[in-house]
Amino acid sequence: MVIAVDGPAASGKGTLARRLAAHYGLPYLDTGLLYRMVARAMRDAGKDIHDAEAATVIVSTFDEKAFAEDSLRGREIGEAASVVAAMPAVRKGLIDRQRRFAGQPGGAVLDGRDIGTVICPEAPAKLFVTATPEVRAARRHKELAGRGELATFDGILADIRRRDARDSGRSDAPLKAAEDADILDTSALTVEEAVAAAIAIVDARRAG
Ligand code: C5P
Repeated sequence: MVIAVDGPAASGKGTLARRLAAHYGLPYLDTGLLYRMVARAMRDAGKDIHDAEAATVIVSTFDEKAFAEDSLRGREIGEAASVVAAMPAVRKGLIDRQRRFAGQPGGAVLDGRDIGTVICPEAPAKLFVTATPEVRAARRHKELAGRGELATFDGILADIRRRDARDSGRSDAPLKAAEDADILDTSALTVEEAVAAAIAIVDARRAG
C-alpha cells in the first residue's frame, strides 16, 4: 500500500507520515529532503540558488549519502529548497527516485507537496495535512528553538507565508490537494489526535 502525505511547511505532515509508516510497517521517504539536498549542493558548489542551469546539472549528479540530515533541516535551506523546487528540471530529475521508492514491494509512505497529484496519483490513500499559518509558525518556532536556531515568531510566520505562496503559485506541480485526497486539519489537534485521525482515514481507504 502506498500512502501519500502532502501539505504545506510545518503542517505536521512529516510527523504523521513517520507515525503512519511505523504503524503499518512501511518504509518512509521525506521527499522535502531531496529538494533540500539539491539546495545544499548548490550552496556547497558556490552556485546562485536561482541558477537553473547549475541546478539541472546538480540534480543529476548529487549524492544522497553526502549530506548529514542536520545540515539540511535549517530555515535557510528550506527557503532555498523552495526556490529550486520551482524549477521544472529539478522536479523532473527527482521523479524517478521517488517513484522507485514508492514501488517497493509492500508499498511505502512518502510525504511532500505533490505525492498524491504527480508522484503517486494512483496511491489508494492520500492525506492532505493542513493547519493555519499561525499554528504552523508556532510549531516551527519551537522546532527551531530546539535546534538552537534563533528566529522570531513573526519572522517564521513571514517565511511560512512566502513559502506557501511560492509552493502554491509555481506552474509545475504546485502544492494542492489531490481531488481524491482526505483533508486533515491539525490546527486544533494534539499529535496523538492527529495520528489517530490519520490512521482512521487510511483504514477507511483500505477498507473501501
Ligand atoms: O517539506 P520541506 O519543508 O522539507 O520541503 C522543502 C521545500 O521543498 C518545500 O518548500 C517545497 O518547495 C519543496 N518540496 C516540493 N515537493 C515535495 C517536497 C518538497 O516542492 N514533494
